[in-house]
Amino acid sequence: MHKLAKLDRQFVWHPFTQMRDWLKHEPIVIISGKGAVLRDVHRCEYLDANASIWTNLHGHQNPKINLAIQRQLKKIAHSSALGLTNEPASLLAAKLVEAAHLNPGRDGILPSQKLGTAARRPSLNKVFFSDDGSTALEVALKLAYEFSRRTGRANPKFLSLEGAYHGDTVGAVALGHMDLFHKSYSGLLFKTDKVMSPYCYRCPFNRARPERADAREYRKCNWKCIDVVEKKFTAQKRKGNSYSVFIFEPLIQGAVGMIPQPGGWLKRATQIARSHGALLIADEVMTGFGRCGLPTLFASHHEGVHPDFLCLAKGLTGGYLPMAATLTTQKVFDAFLGEYREFKTFFHGHSYTANQLGASAALASLEILQSGKSIRVRQNLEKILGDELQMLWSLPNVGDIRQVGLIAGIELVRDWRTREPFDLRKRAGICVCEAMARRGVLTRPVGNVIVLMPPYCITTAQVRKMIHAVFDSIREVFGRARV
Ligand code: PMP
Repeated sequence: MHKLAKLDRQFVWHPFTQMRDWLKHEPIVIISGKGAVLRDVHRCEYLDANASIWTNLHGHQNPKINLAIQRQLKKIAHSSALGLTNEPASLLAAKLVEAAHLNPGRDGILPSQKLGTAARRPSLNKVFFSDDGSTALEVALKLAYEFSRRTGRANPKFLSLEGAYHGDTVGAVALGHMDLFHKSYSGLLFKTDKVMSPYCYRCPFNRARPERADAREYRKCNWKCIDVVEKKFTAQKRKGNSYSVFIFEPLIQGAVGMIPQPGGWLKRATQIARSHGALLIADEVMTGFGRCGLPTLFASHHEGVHPDFLCLAKGLTGGYLPMAATLTTQKVFDAFLGEYREFKTFFHGHSYTANQLGASAALASLEILQSGKSIRVRQNLEKILGDELQMLWSLPNVGDIRQVGLIAGIELVRDWRTREPFDLRKRAGICVCEAMARRGVLTRPVGNVIVLMPPYCITTAQVRKMIHAVFDSIREVFGRARV
């Protein structure tokens, strides 16, 4: 066993990992990466099929991001944002605000006809930096809570989605509703409510029999899931304390199983929330920065939704450095203004807030994202990914294949005709991903769902390799039958 692997086994405790299983094998020790490929200490190469846990956008060792960081490093790596500001963070804040404004002239992405609701949107023009997705949510929930209290809601109530996952810090966990991760900590959490999120493939309202297509396309229902949302808000209103805050991942919920919303759900659900006076927190930690496909950088904008808080992390720095941002409105900002002695200050912050290296990487990443070349590459990739995924429908253990832009989730089932799920304890997703790793393709499942979310620089040949690895691995694990 390599000496680094030995050190890891002796000293490191890994996230979301059953360490007893981990200690049974020699871990893959990554020493370098280029483009969509990672390389380990034994010189084995792997495709980074989940973009290093959904973070990497433009590939490893991207020359432009490398250069931006190197240039910044010659100036300074970090100085505090408590009492000081700095060059790249100020520039980045301005760029993020601009990107969140859907300005078609500048970001060059959004066709002007999509701007219908822009005039009525709350402008996101203040940026609070932090370190990770969880802290971006933590900031949003504290701001939303305190803003609500200062604007007349004595006891602000939060509503999030069934199966929600918004991070692992205690506040973010309170917003979540994934029992597997969250139940043990219930004693530590403040109470939030949940409402049904659309999961067309397993929706109790969907009367369609299983087909070999994305369940959203052939579902038979009458938007009953939206009625449920409406009822939830109305019931809370009757209690005399309407929901103050509605939190959601736009277009697709990640950690609970890559569960996409049917087109139109987001717009309807957020309209209901708004009509009840709730603030909107969009968690775009996974969905942001083009992950959900063109024409916009942020998933909320696909349905003309303009949240009061936009939480960004993961892809913000192109997957290079831990950095996050919570964007919010002037109105929220103003509620925290006052004389010092009034103590209206937002008493929250982190040591590495607005870190210069992270901000430089993020600026370079945004520039790449907004280039014509990147837009064309992503457009092409979305189509290739969609085309290549089709071959997986021939496998009886593939129940649903759901693609949203450059994200794909493949739900494994016992039998596609019955949608019978695998017991999580059987580790079906883990076994398939282990078989994929043996074929040189790395990803992690979410439950029984295989996640494909490659860096945008992945080539067509690499996409094919990735999909073939899924195909062969599913057959290796479950047998060679075809539909
Ligand atoms: N929100 C969403 C939607 C996420 O997917 C994640 C992480 N997977 C987080 C928040 C938390 O981000 P982090 O791991 O960077 O704290």
